[in-house]
Amino acid sequence: MEAFDAHRLLQETGALLTGHFLLTSGLHSPQYVQCARLLQFPTVAERAGAALAQRLRRIGGAPDVVVAPAIGGIVIAHETARALGARCVFTEREQGAMTLRRGFALAEGEVAVVVEDVVTTGGSTRETMAVATQLGAQVAAVGAIIDRSGGQAEFGAPFAALLALTIPTYHPDDCPLCRAGVPLVKPGSRAFKSK
Ligand SMILES: [Zn+2]
Repeated sequence: MEAFDAHRLLQETGALLTGHFLLTSGLHSPQYVQCARLLQFPTVAERAGAALAQRLRRIGGAPDVVVAPAIGGIVIAHETARALGARCVFTEREQGAMTLRRGFALAEGEVAVVVEDVVTTGGSTRETMAVATQLGAQVAAVGAIIDRSGGQAEFGAPFAALLALTIPTYHPDDCPLCRAGVPLVKPGSRAFKSK
């Protein structure tokens, strides 16, 4: 079977772009990640889920359920659950607090893994872990397509990602891309979409 090359697939699907990007924070960056662009292709999403399931099996055994933080984690968690033969539920924010809604339930003692698209600080992942633990499940592992934490994300459970990625950011006053005259693009803008 062909090895799963996360970096190549992210580039091919336009999920990982190289250029000069204006981030929501106001900072500039030479790379931009939007996992939804990879996950829009069901066959690619299925392969990503299978690859992540393989890694999670090694570190987290055989979970009963995959739990995703909405919205970013839902598609990859669902595909990972398909490969693991587990079910998939997702948490979402209700008045700011992460909760399990829609009649989803976790049983006491169930083994869960939490799956996200991108882990940056790991905040929403930890909140989702807390929800699962509070309901009596045991979180055996955490998985993501991309680990952007630079190895800093701490979950108190084993963590696997398909790709570790450190994306530099620059202050607009001290940006080498600005100095080089590379046109600045705002992700989501018309100029961005025409790429
Ligand atoms: Zn710049």
